[in-house]
Amino acid sequence: MNRDEGSTDQHVKNRSGFARRALLGALAALPAPALAQAPGARLPRGVLATVAMVGDVVREISGGRIRAETLIGEGVDPHLFRPTRADIARLLAADAVFANGHRLEGRMGDVLERVAASGKPVVLMAESLPRARLRANPDYPDAADPHVWMDPTLWADASVAAGEALTRLVPDAREAFADNLARFRARCARLDAYAQEVLGTIPANARLLVTAHDAFSYFGARYGLELESIQGLSTEAEANLAAIEALVRKLVERRVPAVFAETSVPDRAVRALIEGAGARGQRVALGGNLFSDAMGRAGTYEGTYEGMLDHNITTIARALGGRAPERGLNGRLGR
Ligand SMILES: [Zn+2]
Repeated sequence: MNRDEGSTDQHVKNRSGFARRALLGALAALPAPALAQAPGARLPRGVLATVAMVGDVVREISGGRIRAETLIGEGVDPHLFRPTRADIARLLAADAVFANGHRLEGRMGDVLERVAASGKPVVLMAESLPRARLRANPDYPDAADPHVWMDPTLWADASVAAGEALTRLVPDAREAFADNLARFRARCARLDAYAQEVLGTIPANARLLVTAHDAFSYFGARYGLELESIQGLSTEAEANLAAIEALVRKLVERRVPAVFAETSVPDRAVRALIEGAGARGQRVALGGNLFSDAMGRAGTYEGTYEGMLDHNITTIARALGGRAPERGLNGRLGR
C-alpha cells in the first residue's frame, strides 16, 4: 500500500464520494432532535480514529461537534492489532476514518483500503507530511518510519490534514475548527520548548535512550538523544540475543543510568538488559514505562497527546540524570 505519490490531497480519499454519501447518510440516519437543533446542517454521525494519538487530535479540533471514537485502546500495540469483524463494521459505518499510516497499523492496510473504496474519506495523518521531513523505514522501503507523533512539531503539522478533513465534514464549523487547531498547535509548540529545555539538562554520557522498540527516532533526532532499541521499528520481530549483549556492553561502557519499557510492548527484553548490566556490576534502573504507540488511560492527563508526551519527556529527563519538574510541564502528571 503506497499512498505517497500524487497530489497533496492524496492522503484524503474519495472526497466527492464522501460528500454525496454524507448527505444521503445524514438524511437517512440522523435522529429528528439532531436535525431540529441544527436546521439545514449536514451533521456527520461520527468518525473513528485508529490509534489514540490520532483520536486526540480529532477530538481537540472538533471540540465535541463530531463524535470521535478510537479503535485501538490503552496499552494495545497497533503494529500487531488485527481488527475483528465488529471493528471492521465500525470502520465501515464511520463517516470518516483517521489513521496514522506509514504502516503503523500494519495489519489494517486492507481494511483501510476497503473503507476508502466504500467512498469514505480515510485521512492518514503521517502520510500528509512531506516525505523529506520523514525518516526511513528499513522494514518497508515504500513507507517511512511511522512514529511521527514523537516530535510535537511534526505532529502539529500533521494535525493540519485532520483539520482540513473535519472542515469538509462540517463546513459550518470552519472557524471553530481553525481556532481549535491553532490552540492544539500552540500546545505542541509549548511541549517542544519544554522538551528542549529539560532534555538539554541530561549529562553527555547518559544521552542514550534505550527502549523496547524503535519508536523514538523522531524524538531522538529532535532532542539530540542517541537511540538504541531491542526490537526494530515494528514490534513483530523477536529481539535477538547478540543484540541484547551488544546493548549491555554499551550501557556499561557509557554508565547509562536507566533504560525504558513501553506500555504497549512486553518488557521481557528490557528486563534482560537490566539483569545483563547488573551481572557486569553496572546498576541500570528501569527508568519507567514510556507511552510509545499507545496513550494512557482515557480520562486521565496521560490519556491525552499532551500528557503522553509530557510523561515521556519528563520521565526520560529525570531517569537519565537531567532536571525536570516531577509533575511535568503542567503539574498534572500522575494525578
Ligand atoms: Zn511502534
